[in-house]
Amino acid sequence: IPLYIPRETREHEKRVALVPSVAAKLQKLGLDISLESGAGNAARIPDTAYTDAGVTLGTGEGAKLIFRVQPPSVEDVAQMAEGSILFSFIYAQREPAVVKALQERKITCFAMELVPRITRAQAMDALSSQAALAGYYAALLAATNLNRILPMMTTAVGSLRPAKVLVMGAGVAGLQALATAKRLGAMIEGYDVRPEVKEQVQSVGGKFVDTGVNAVGEGGYARELTDEEKQQVEAVLTRHIQQADAVITTASIPGKPSPKIITESQIMGMKSGAIIIDLAAEGGGNTPLTKPGETVEAGPATIVAPLNITSNLAEHASELYSRNLLALVSLMVEEGELKLDWEDEVLAKSVLTHEGEIRNEAARAAVA
Ligand code: NAD
Repeated sequence: IPLYIPRETREHEKRVALVPSVAAKLQKLGLDISLESGAGNAARIPDTAYTDAGVTLGTGEGAKLIFRVQPPSVEDVAQMAEGSILFSFIYAQREPAVVKALQERKITCFAMELVPRITRAQAMDALSSQAALAGYYAALLAATNLNRILPMMTTAVGSLRPAKVLVMGAGVAGLQALATAKRLGAMIEGYDVRPEVKEQVQSVGGKFVDTGVNAVGEGGYARELTDEEKQQVEAVLTRHIQQADAVITTASIPGKPSPKIITESQIMGMKSGAIIIDLAAEGGGNTPLTKPGETVEAGPATIVAPLNITSNLAEHASELYSRNLLALVSLMVEEGELKLDWEDEVLAKSVLTHEGEIRNEAARAAVA
């Protein structure tokens, strides 16, 4: 089965969808791999590392499977053979023209952001693998953007107090941010709307910010808070935000703009020199003053809102992403033959286009 890995064509993308160490495992499945020369350059993986692993350099002609990190352009889709199978992040809502092109070209496209977050699919969950790295990096950004140090330090002239780092949104990225800030010596606190996160925050050595309001309603779903409860939550959060040296925000709602979880007045009351690392910049940011892709001064604080953070960690991000792809493709190959089992929930939920149809409801709405 011929597999092709083209060079990424989107700006500022340093990752590559296959690293040499994963090639052998794909070959064992019966895949015959070719790569566009230079595809690994931005991740500092030279062509020779691939050819040493038995990958040939080529143009992708006749490829049945294609691996990408970022969505192809409409022109890229035109280069793909009809009926070929693409694995890539797509984010259909942002890319209606690409979805349409994939549909018209009858590409079977698996969108990595659609892989269901069930236990069986954990190895295929590229959102989680990339988020873990982004969370780690966010703590480093906090450390290097502050004009103070994170750990306690004892010197001949006395000791320095450790910094306080508050992480809001303690999912995959948030927990790694907490763990990393802890390793750097900060005092760490985590907050999330999901109460079950409390134990996870504690397990990495953090304190959970308890707002005193339980938002769990019937059947375990979040319930609407009363006005009084909302005020109480805000008051508690304000205190923690304004005591922090660094706040790392990671809150996102799948398929929606990022929620604003810090208000302008909360920012104006922060410590002088405090920083916010806003990991939700891709979805517009977690504060009203965030400028995605930029670093801005906001009263006493500075807001850092980088885009595509994992591209900065291209080697490891590519490695984890390749392993996610390997796990997903493994579901589709049996004795060297491709077999798409649409009864399998993982395939059925992650497919975006197939045989000229858009198979995902949200994507259909975006294209219509
Ligand atoms: P995410 O990136 O969508 O969101 C990050 C965090 O922000 C989440 O924890 C969310 O609860 C939180 N958040 C949303 N709105 C908020 C608000 N207004 N204030 C504060 N926090 C807010 O989430 P994620 O990290 O991709 O995943 C979240 C969770 O899903 C994980 O921690 C995990 O428990 C679960 N998950 C399960 C699997 C699996 O079972 N295979 C895989 C991945 C994730």
